[in-house]
Amino acid sequence: MFDFMDEMPDDASYCATGPYIPEAIDCMRCGLCVSHCPTYQLFQAEVESPRSRVRTLDKIINGLSPISDSELKHLNNCTQCRRCETVCPSKMAYGQLFDRAQAIQQAANPKQRPTGLAKLGYKFIEHKNALYLAAIALRCYQTSGIQYLLRKSRLLTLLNLEKAEALLPKVAIHQLAKHYPTSKHPRGKVGLFTGCISNHFDRETLLASIKLLNYLGFDVFIPKQQGCCGAIHQHQGYPDTANKLAAHNIGAFNGLDLVATIYVASGCGLMLHEYDPQGFDHPLYDITSFLNLHWPADITLKSPAAKYRKFAVHEPCSQQVQKPDKAGQHPIYALLGKIPGITVAPLPDNQVCCGAGGIHILSHPAIAEPLRDKKLAHFKQTSAELLVTTNIGCALHLNAGPALHKVVHPVVLLAEALG
Ligand code: SF4
Ligand code: SF4
Repeated sequence: MFDFMDEMPDDASYCATGPYIPEAIDCMRCGLCVSHCPTYQLFQAEVESPRSRVRTLDKIINGLSPISDSELKHLNNCTQCRRCETVCPSKMAYGQLFDRAQAIQQAANPKQRPTGLAKLGYKFIEHKNALYLAAIALRCYQTSGIQYLLRKSRLLTLLNLEKAEALLPKVAIHQLAKHYPTSKHPRGKVGLFTGCISNHFDRETLLASIKLLNYLGFDVFIPKQQGCCGAIHQHQGYPDTANKLAAHNIGAFNGLDLVATIYVASGCGLMLHEYDPQGFDHPLYDITSFLNLHWPADITLKSPAAKYRKFAVHEPCSQQVQKPDKAGQHPIYALLGKIPGITVAPLPDNQVCCGAGGIHILSHPAIAEPLRDKKLAHFKQTSAELLVTTNIGCALHLNAGPALHKVVHPVVLLAEALG
């Protein structure tokens, strides 16, 4: 059907001469991406399709005719899931084009820069100490009874903070140690990337990862200097800040003689993999890939309690955009398969975004919530007892949905099965 595809490299993103990044103008409007786009599925409108957005991106990047408010609105409705990239025969680097366009837009329209709560949010994730102080304040809010009283009153609704507040998980404020040594036969030193949000909002996953890595014989190092991966800044049009954060993280992990740096949130992982390829002096791994690769044959795990034995897996877009393992499956299935007495199956609509999309949950609830509710309806149909995912953004978003048991990271289940 597409003769030119014969000339495409097997690897989706590289040619012999380097990365192959088609310009927006290379979109041939074939429409193969359309049915994979969550906003097109939601609105059933061409203006909400990737190929329509690619045309807008082309106008912005190449300074063509002015962009209408309507075009801008439909562009900004994009959840940045990048599912369109995974099916595009032109190997359209949609994410990179989107980031370039955002940077141009932000530079040209400084008045559109975030203000108020959004601006505060950017500063918190950028500056670790400020985020730590915010975490302490949120922990006091949760433990002092103020949260209970506010949730009972209508104040959160009146302040338009009800939805943002519902995303708040239990906040951890104690500092992690710099080094967690293994008591097993040593197999090497690994770095653990804790990110900004995961460090305070997903401590359970980080502690489970440390426990498993130590059990497998790895010394775990958590450099204090590390910080936010920069993904949100990159995707919102602040490449300078994103580059600064990237350089900072590379400096924090390099020189520690690590066999790997490991991340637990696939959203951060995608950004880390897109840093300068010459950056890290050791490989990067998703925790599920690393554990799967180094899992010894002689570990016996326990079955979980009888009421939690059927798991459904939500595969985050950030994980789908990265390559699966050689068998074509994400390692999460092989890893969970080590727990005896459980069944694990993908959610039926895993090819569609749940709507979380970085700050989309907060900036576009009218899109994020229906997408989440569809996802949860699929979960209910599976009759699974637990929903499992590897990205904190998706987990927070899905947890805030109606009547769902907590969404967990697979390593938490694995660490529990270890006893
Ligand atoms: S699949 Fe790629 S080439 Fe086809 S319309 Fe979508 S972006 Fe354009
Ligand atoms: S990134 Fe996702 S939401 Fe945006 S155009 Fe592509 S498929 Fe649609």
